[in-house]
Amino acid sequence: MACCKKELSAEEVIALDKKYVWHHLTQHKVFENSDPMIIDHGKGMHVYDIKGKEYLDAVSGGVWTVNVGYGREEIVDAVAEQMKKLCYFANSFGSTPTAIFAEKLISKMPGMSRVYISNSGSEANEKAFKIVRQISILKHGGKKNKIIYRDRDYHGTTITTLSACGQEERREQYGPFTPGFVSFPAANCYRNPYGLDPSDPKLGELFANELEKVILAEGPDTVGGVIVEPITAGGGVLVPPKDYLTKVSAICKKYDVLLIIDEVVCGLGRTGKWFGYQHFDVQPDIVTMAKGVASGYAAISCTVTTEKVFQDFIAEPSDRESYFRDISTFGGCTSGPAAAIANLEIIERENLLENTAKVGEYFMGKLNELKDKYSVIGDVRGKGLFCGMELVKDRTTKEPVDESVCGAIVANCMKQGVIIGKTSRSFKKFNNTLCFSPALIATTKDIDQIVAALDKAFAEVCK
Ligand code: PMP
Repeated sequence: MACCKKELSAEEVIALDKKYVWHHLTQHKVFENSDPMIIDHGKGMHVYDIKGKEYLDAVSGGVWTVNVGYGREEIVDAVAEQMKKLCYFANSFGSTPTAIFAEKLISKMPGMSRVYISNSGSEANEKAFKIVRQISILKHGGKKNKIIYRDRDYHGTTITTLSACGQEERREQYGPFTPGFVSFPAANCYRNPYGLDPSDPKLGELFANELEKVILAEGPDTVGGVIVEPITAGGGVLVPPKDYLTKVSAICKKYDVLLIIDEVVCGLGRTGKWFGYQHFDVQPDIVTMAKGVASGYAAISCTVTTEKVFQDFIAEPSDRESYFRDISTFGGCTSGPAAAIANLEIIERENLLENTAKVGEYFMGKLNELKDKYSVIGDVRGKGLFCGMELVKDRTTKEPVDESVCGAIVANCMKQGVIIGKTSRSFKKFNNTLCFSPALIATTKDIDQIVAALDKAFAEVCK
């Protein structure tokens, strides 16, 4: 532990953790009879716990973040060099890495124009909501202030992003919420309510019509924005039909509603393109991103807008009233853009988009082979190195497996040295999807190891 000066034994670190640390998403009662797993270091696709056990990380740091893998000295060096030169200055001023990063990012996003930097996915989405609300004031007399979000989507952990959260179980016990947020139904092909086959070409339009119904019910003159994940991540890895986002976008245009695409998970190569929305024929007004922007080497998030959105803050109605009255203190940390530049360069130089598309297809093929073998696997879906597997008691009724089954599969894989994920542990209805998001450097050999672990886990857990 070179970074921590004091050399401590594994047992000492675990004791400190158990006494002082409050873990995310964790019921700490579990530590009455067990120890927290402390991850000590990582290299490439692998991480090592404090006792030295090696794991193949099939979830990029637990929550689809470390897109370029661990131990990238190039990013570390870029950050160190920048921090020696200038660690911080408020982003109401400029900095060299911010300017270089912004140009580089925009070059991957045709039609987009401006980059606003903050430091978490939640914050990036909060900025997007504030932009919608302020445009409502500047252009629509304050009336067009409602924001529509989609069932099963997640946009962050703050009270306002939870107000836009389609995962009911995450909102429980945190109300009251910010007013002006309204939901519309998920684009869940596997569990579509129309009784259609998940591949039915009519689904895209039917799902998009659900949005139009909500806009009309609320009153189009009161709706300012719609936010969606291009592929729903934590809500169950839901890939929408090919024409869905195009139709959603057309509905937004029809009613003069801004389309916000949350790329916090899908962005920066996860799906085999720079951004998830680029698989579809759609031009968003606002795009938010975080996790993969610097692959976890620094905390940076972005809210990216079109020139039209940006101009709304310059032109109307007077300079004093129209500027974006927002700041993020740590949006001025230069480590973020410095890490992000190096991260983007790695993705480009190592052709990681191509690798993700190719290895992702191989992965999907292998997961489908498992589906042929185990009837508990109801559905396999995904794009690039972003895959999900929904488990059911019965393929005809699609009744979800009991909550414990996914946990047992995850634990079994962990024992075998492979870390996989599952949808949030607080899920009541749908805690039945396993998630996979290995780093974009994954090889077919890594995939074979993940699939072999899964095979063994299914054989043991679902006998
Ligand atoms: N949007 C999506 C799609 C996410 O998955 C997450 C986090 N899992 C967020 C936003 C929030 O990001 P953060 O935790 O960095 O605030």
